[in-house]
Amino acid sequence: MPNRISITFLGTSSGSGPTLSRHCSSLALNLDGEIWLVDCAEGTQLRLVQADISPARVTKIFITHLHVDHVMGLVPLLTTIMFGLEPSNSKSGQRSIDLYGPVGLRQLVRITLQLTGATLAGTFSVHEFLAVQTPVASCPAPISDTRPNEGHGRDIQCDSDGKWKNFQEASGITISAAPLEHRGNSLCWVSISAPGRKLVILGDTSDASSFIGLADDASLLVHEATNAYISPRKLKSSQWDENEKEKLRAKAISRGHSTAEMAGEFAKQIRARRLYLNHFSSMYPDPAWNTDSGLRRKSKKHRERYPDDPKGSENQIMMHAIQDQATEGWSQEGSRAIAATDFMCVEIRGHEVS
Ligand SMILES: [Zn+2]
Repeated sequence: MPNRISITFLGTSSGSGPTLSRHCSSLALNLDGEIWLVDCAEGTQLRLVQADISPARVTKIFITHLHVDHVMGLVPLLTTIMFGLEPSNSKSGQRSIDLYGPVGLRQLVRITLQLTGATLAGTFSVHEFLAVQTPVASCPAPISDTRPNEGHGRDIQCDSDGKWKNFQEASGITISAAPLEHRGNSLCWVSISAPGRKLVILGDTSDASSFIGLADDASLLVHEATNAYISPRKLKSSQWDENEKEKLRAKAISRGHSTAEMAGEFAKQIRARRLYLNHFSSMYPDPAWNTDSGLRRKSKKHRERYPDDPKGSENQIMMHAIQDQATEGWSQEGSRAIAATDFMCVEIRGHEVS
């Protein structure tokens, strides 16, 4: 049972990114030094190094869905963690790593490794979640030693309600998953429960209600907020008329995403103790990026879009507005939603859930 649990946001941009200071989706969960990743966008291994997290400490990777902004850093990271010129497997004491994700993940990893001719000094196993719409694995898990480096992944059947409750229980931690409403064929999740703590980390979604029950009383909820009210003159949702709000919400839902207010409303439904927002559109101004020389740089796009904002205050105004909108939806006395930035680290203490 881990004593210390924390999360580090490695990528908080939506698929329209990356930007200078936000990479696409990835998040590291630190369990007493063992690292589990949720999503693995392009550049995740660079973000790990920049966050002083050794890629060698990664033992599990959970993929919420197969959109390119969530998964394209996976094979490069595997080849770094298990760097080797000759294929060898974990029987010789090499590394092993478990990957969890929707149907298609096994095929994606296997084909990419084959086509790129990559070799691994270790073993990976891909566990696919069979859903009502996708009841068959993308390709069979290997039996015995038919494939170098690939272990026998599980094909995990959903329960009668379409969820994967407590599909893994070990070391005092249980993990559950459930499908979320999103564009295309996707699975999103993750609810991780350790004694006294419950973390709910959602992938992209326009409707997280399948998690009600599983996610109740979460000590921490991470929810996307791809869309928000961005008129500089009317940043608070209370300043918008209902018609404008409905239009924005309908636009977000039509693209499989949520507004900041919707994230807050879900936090309220599950009585979350803390709410962190991620998956921001790259049309918002970037947080300033600190260079090695100590200079704070703005992206070209930001400089062009906000020529009168040399200090980057537009970003703070915008993120405060997004936090306000989520907090209004949450409407929980004394609680405030937080807009995550890359490298933000949050510790989850062990006394938060009875
Ligand atoms: Zn997506």
